[in-house]
Amino acid sequence: MDQTNHHNDMTPSRRAFLGTTAAISAGAMISPVATATPWEQLDPIPPKADLATMAPPMNFPRDIPIFKQAFRNWSRGIQIDDLWTCQPTSVEDLITIANWAAENRYRIRPRGYSHNWSPIVVSPESNLGTRVILLDMTEHFKDMTMTQDWPPAVTVGAGASMESLLTYLENEGYGVTSCPAPGDLSVGGVLAIDGHGTGIPAEGETREIGQTYGTLSNRVLSLKCVAWNHKNDRYELMTFDRSHPDTAAMLVALGRTIVVEAELRVEENHNLRCESYVSISADEMFAPAGASGRTMESFLNSSGRIEAIWFPFTSNPWLKVWTVQPTKPFWAREVSGPFNYPFSDNISEEVSNLIGEIMDGAPGLTPQFGQLMATVTSLGLLFDNAFDLWGPSKNLLLYVKRTTLRVTANGYAVLTRRADAQRVIHEFVNKYNSMLQAYADDGKYPINGPMEIRVTGLDDPAHAELDDACDVPLSAVVPCEDHPDWDCAVWLDLLTVPRTPFSGDFYAELEQWMFENYVGDYASMRVEWSKGWGYTGVGPWTSDQVINEYVPQTLTDGRPAKANWNSSVSLLQDLDPHGIYRNPFLDKLMPS
Ligand SMILES: Cc1cc2nc3c(=O)[nH]c(=O)nc-3n(C[C@H](O)[C@H](O)[C@H](O)COP(=O)(O)OP(=O)(O)OC[C@H]3O[C@@H](n4cnc5c(N)ncnc54)[C@H](O)[C@@H]3O)c2cc1C
Repeated sequence: MDQTNHHNDMTPSRRAFLGTTAAISAGAMISPVATATPWEQLDPIPPKADLATMAPPMNFPRDIPIFKQAFRNWSRGIQIDDLWTCQPTSVEDLITIANWAAENRYRIRPRGYSHNWSPIVVSPESNLGTRVILLDMTEHFKDMTMTQDWPPAVTVGAGASMESLLTYLENEGYGVTSCPAPGDLSVGGVLAIDGHGTGIPAEGETREIGQTYGTLSNRVLSLKCVAWNHKNDRYELMTFDRSHPDTAAMLVALGRTIVVEAELRVEENHNLRCESYVSISADEMFAPAGASGRTMESFLNSSGRIEAIWFPFTSNPWLKVWTVQPTKPFWAREVSGPFNYPFSDNISEEVSNLIGEIMDGAPGLTPQFGQLMATVTSLGLLFDNAFDLWGPSKNLLLYVKRTTLRVTANGYAVLTRRADAQRVIHEFVNKYNSMLQAYADDGKYPINGPMEIRVTGLDDPAHAELDDACDVPLSAVVPCEDHPDWDCAVWLDLLTVPRTPFSGDFYAELEQWMFENYVGDYASMRVEWSKGWGYTGVGPWTSDQVINEYVPQTLTDGRPAKANWNSSVSLLQDLDPHGIYRNPFLDKLMPS
């Protein structure tokens, strides 16, 4: 294990360190912006209440306040100056707005914290003239309560943040096996895209009641959504039980409904230890399958829960390894709250200046940037005494703040058998390395952020602890019936500053190779809805081949006809016959 210095206070050296350097990390994010520095804090966007200058949409229900507000997603890949927005306060508001939208040919888009990269909230071409209204779900719809004792279940409003949900669960003695790394994601937003963390059972570990090694969507027992009731010819609040086949498509619906609340299976809370390693070379960690040494496979066997972060042009990744540990190991530092990698959530001048120079036309500085980030990570772990942490699961599972560096990311899940996880990783790393080198030889540096690798189980419906739970057919990790031996998914991401030259070409070439490489009896690859995919040289979500062929195909092959891509899309259409829950990108992805 890497050695830890036990500084508990902010020593002068640590202060100096924080003043001059800071790092990107897991989910570490970068984005250049047109201000004095290329880094901008993300503050909530205040509503603009200038209704006097522009009339609200025609016939909009008078008693529901509506205002203009800028929409910016977290990466700033989508920025729209003004969009009609409202913050519904009740289910009645939601139903009224939905029926108004159907009658007035408007579209409504529920949103949470706008952390999503892909254009599934609104697409970039939307503006005030577009007949669309955003529903900010984060102000209301945040209640939560335990609704089943054993196996335990919680009912939570879709606007609640993941951090508040996990805090509530912790206080009640419950938790989750894994979850997305940030705390400021809404439950509705996470369910919409099958949000995931990392973790498969360690060798010898048996699944406990309420645990799932799949995504958050696989925890759903029931959903309350505003959907079309054919009997009454109107949008109404409807309950979708996990045992009803109609529920399947709603479990990951990409915002093609309004989820009001969800009942989720949860589990007894555990204490976790998270150890960081920076002394293992990439060659050793990502070695071919079967190699001895400290490979990803070896850590999967010993702990099951791992994440590798690897900056370009550096030799050693940052590996995090979580283990279930009821009592505090002697060397570990007990943490009383989440977000314990402050070096990754604060951007220094040194880092921002260097990335600024890269974006201003000095791409050759990219290797230096990678080195800086790796150094900052190692020093940060040391000065923040963060090499070895222990505490209640939430404090170790949440570790990315919104202030971290902003980047764009591609994202895919490769389904395979556990014995082949190392092969999947090795091949990906090999391909990436050879492409990175070939581009560099050409004077091109398209990737300046880290690679991230996590491994989860699949969305096995049995984990819901119901007799007849349906599958999650639009989840990237829904099992394939023709490959019951595929029991895990390797999630692969590559991060880079938005608009880095040649990144579209790089991502497109790599994506094509991945779709061709992870096939047959060995593996299958699906896109990660929230991130970048469908690349051409122009950027993500632009490849007709990926959007119209690969996405439907990879969610159809090996899937029963009743729960594949087409059946899910037509179910969503049936529950929204007026197409109020759509946008131009969703029109293209899921034509009616
Ligand atoms: C820094 C960073 C780190 C991340 N790390 C992870 C990670 O570790 N694991 C992971 O899986 N993902 C991760 N993500 C992606 C994130 O989980 C998704 O983008 C998620 O959808 C964001 O939630 P949100 O509340 O911001 O939703 P938004 O971005 O506001 O919306 C996303 C989608 O959800 C829909 N939606 C929102 N609320 C509702 C509702 N009430 N009813 C119906 N639909 C709704 C929207 O219409 C839209 O389609 C990360 C993102 C960022 C920026």
